[in-house]
Amino acid sequence: MASDLPSGSLWNSESFPHFDNIPEEHDTDNIDHHTAFIGEIKRDASLGRLTLMVTDGKVASEKNIPVAFYDHSNGAVWSPLAKVGHTVVILYPETKKHHFLDGQEGFRINEEDMKHVRIFPYDRMGLLTASDVFFSITTKPKQCQNCAVPELTPWNPNYVPDPSEKDKKLLACGRCRVIKYCNKECQTAHWGQHKKYCRQLADVQWFTRKDWDKVASTADGKPVLFQFE
Ligand SMILES: [Zn+2]
Ligand SMILES: [Zn+2]
Repeated sequence: MASDLPSGSLWNSESFPHFDNIPEEHDTDNIDHHTAFIGEIKRDASLGRLTLMVTDGKVASEKNIPVAFYDHSNGAVWSPLAKVGHTVVILYPETKKHHFLDGQEGFRINEEDMKHVRIFPYDRMGLLTASDVFFSITTKPKQCQNCAVPELTPWNPNYVPDPSEKDKKLLACGRCRVIKYCNKECQTAHWGQHKKYCRQLADVQWFTRKDWDKVASTADGKPVLFQFE
């Protein structure tokens, strides 16, 4: 099932594994594909350092997974975004599946891991749904998302050259660049719907445009890892 999905689809369980499928220990030198853990914040369990209890969205599992920050700021840099209902993404979590002293398993984020962490200000399903929208729109012929008029270009089978008229090129939403419209009027008419996922669609392309299966190597054979800017 997972193999039918593009490696950049957030539903691909090879690239985006549930907590149970993350190995205990992993040598970063042996990484053969990129992975990320996607969790939604359910509770703030901070005591001095930022500690977030997150769920990986698995229906059968009620357990929340601790994500504790051991960077120089004890997670303070993430405080403004670290709210219940927001989404935490951790790249290469298998390097850090951690056994805490209280017996819980989770993620310990050290200073060097901070470039592998990002918090998005909306829920997990919002990010996953944006992944679906991205692939469903970018794999179909381009059309206006408001009135469904197809883009007329020489590659469109319905294209009839009309010297009196310029070729009809659709305009992209300036923020997500994925959703297209005939004109400003169509964009304005559709904004009520689109504003609910434009931000997510803009963000999700960091994931969807990458090939999670291929890992490049440096000259000394170390994997080139993805990181958030
Ligand atoms: Zn239109
Ligand atoms: Zn947009």
